[in-house]
Amino acid sequence: MLRNGVLVVVSGPSGVGKTTLCKNIVTRLPATVFSVSYTTRKPRPGEREGVEYFFVDDARFQDLIREEAFIEWAEVYGHKYGTPKQALLESLHKGINVLLEIDAQGAKQIMERFAGAVYVFVAPPSLDVLRKRLCRRAEDSMEDQEEIERRLHEASDEIANFKAYHYFVRNDELLQATKELESIILAERVKTDRLDPDVLVENGLVESMTRKKIAT
Ligand code: 5GP
Repeated sequence: MLRNGVLVVVSGPSGVGKTTLCKNIVTRLPATVFSVSYTTRKPRPGEREGVEYFFVDDARFQDLIREEAFIEWAEVYGHKYGTPKQALLESLHKGINVLLEIDAQGAKQIMERFAGAVYVFVAPPSLDVLRKRLCRRAEDSMEDQEEIERRLHEASDEIANFKAYHYFVRNDELLQATKELESIILAERVKTDRLDPDVLVENGLVESMTRKKIAT
């Protein structure tokens, strides 16, 4: 194996379609997995334990924080969400790309703690379209108008902070957005700065005598 996997942090406002995008990527790209977070929120209809999330109560979540089991965690709309550390690091070391679909606070924590991750911001086509998507979702979950307006305001702030990310994908048309995200991961994976010179020698691509000529 020439390279570690790429850690891809996919963030963006609630309702923008990050989950669908990430699911598309996992089915299209080999050696790419979706990190399953822990959450204290209740499962929605159709969600399965260990697939969408690991569903835990507050006490268990606090234990996991104490055990330093998370690479980041954040409270989002009244519930806690955390990304498990060990599985993520193991996958990267095996050369598997890991997709993290997390909120902006979580992305910021990873930026402060983890070198080499790729940050992708997913934006809606417009705030108006996002409002419609959130209203549709609210019909299912009984969220009120005030909550939707609060999320739209937050979304506007998050979009304005786009410079914190490497890439900006506007999810107007799902297939196009999927292709853009896929291209980002494929290109990031083959970047020269992800290559370890010693691994080039081990793989018979560079003679050991030449090793010292490689600038690091
Ligand atoms: P939902 O409850 O709708 O699945 O997710 C609500 C928000 O929490 C989304 O913006 C989602 O990206 C974010 N989220 C999901 N898992 C994590 C996590 O492990 N850490 C952080 N910081 N945010 C997460």
